[in-house]
Amino acid sequence: MFPYLSMHAKHYRRFVWSAVRRLCVRYTVIFVLLIHSHIVHCSVLWLWIAMFPDWLVKLLEEHRGLVVVLFCLPISYLFDICLKLSNWIRRRRLSAPEQHYLRVGKIQESVREWNKLPAASRQPMCTSRPNWLSLSTTFFQKSQCHQIQVALFDILRLNEKEMTVKVEPMVSVGEITSYLVPRGYALAVTLEIADATCGGLAMAVGMTTYSHKVGLYQESVVSYDVVLADGRLAHVTKDNEYKDLFHCLPWSHGTLGLLVAVELKIVPVKPYVHLRYIPVRGQQMFCNEIRRLSGALSPNARTPDYLEATVFGKDEAVLMVGNLADVKTERAQLKINHVARWELCKECFGKKNLFAFLLSLKHPYRV
Ligand SMILES: Cc1cc2nc3c(=O)[nH]c(=O)nc-3n(C[C@H](O)[C@H](O)[C@H](O)COP(=O)(O)OP(=O)(O)OC[C@H]3O[C@@H](n4cnc5c(N)ncnc54)[C@H](O)[C@@H]3O)c2cc1C
Repeated sequence: MFPYLSMHAKHYRRFVWSAVRRLCVRYTVIFVLLIHSHIVHCSVLWLWIAMFPDWLVKLLEEHRGLVVVLFCLPISYLFDICLKLSNWIRRRRLSAPEQHYLRVGKIQESVREWNKLPAASRQPMCTSRPNWLSLSTTFFQKSQCHQIQVALFDILRLNEKEMTVKVEPMVSVGEITSYLVPRGYALAVTLEIADATCGGLAMAVGMTTYSHKVGLYQESVVSYDVVLADGRLAHVTKDNEYKDLFHCLPWSHGTLGLLVAVELKIVPVKPYVHLRYIPVRGQQMFCNEIRRLSGALSPNARTPDYLEATVFGKDEAVLMVGNLADVKTERAQLKINHVARWELCKECFGKKNLFAFLLSLKHPYRV
């Protein structure tokens, strides 16, 4: 009886411990991904925490692992599910690209109504998108502005001949990428942050790991459709009557008009990215390598499609060099890293740190 019990308890303990470990790894991965995309909600959280007494803040700080796992993680996870669900409903049930100009007409009407207000009570206009949904860190008091609803979420037109796509401003990078990739394209400047919006990036600024080839996000814009302060709709391109506006809209943060559509350049893509990790030691080597790989040293240099770096410490960094790839041979298929699955994450988290993991890779070339 007793040996059986102790065996049972041992197995039970081992089972529970391994389940807890697996859950922790899984939830930490989800949390890292979610916190990356929802850093803004965390800023709201920090504001709230700032009102706590010092001893409570210290306690929470000391046990931040628990706070993350038991509080931040489930909340972020639920929030993400709600966001995805509402996006799905909007795309499947409410999408109506053909009614674009009808919706724009309503925005123009709202702007004209604003113009009719007495000058003294006319507050500056802004979009009614709440700050907590916005990724931009230039928060301002929207409650002190005249808010205009810009509920424009549709993908309007893909032009494969001109290699452009026209979208409404609230289309997110994640949505446009899911739309374009199965058709063999991606935005010329595709951010890794799926929640960033095509309009927000056009009115603020955007860049990505492809930018050493195509420039900043604004350099991939072909045209903007903007409702001006008097309610007129302007189609803005780099060589029409609004060409001055074309150069002023990026970084303007909505101070020059309300964006209602943007046409963006697209590039052809392949199903895979051939990724090479290059660990570098020392700041000089890091700077030299990234300059060389990005083509900064020679304008005619052949540059990789994607270039990114993660700096792990004062003297440790890993450069990530990616090239679009087809994976046709069986040998190449064996090297596929399904980065969206758990395997890679588990591998990474099992190691002491990611730098050590990257140094230890058996295959320096991974597809
Ligand atoms: C954790 C984190 C990582 C980031 N990493 C990157 C990165 O790798 N690369 C990069 O390029 N950026 C990065 N950003 C910056 C982010 O992508 C930008 O702030 C960008 O503005 C996207 O924000 P958004 O889509 O939420 O737009 P918002 O923040 O909502 O809008 C940006 C600005 O445009 C104005 N605006 C939005 N829509 C309209 C409209 N229809 N008409 C008029 N004005 C409008 C808003 O008022 C605001 O001033 C990062 C941000 C965070 C928080």
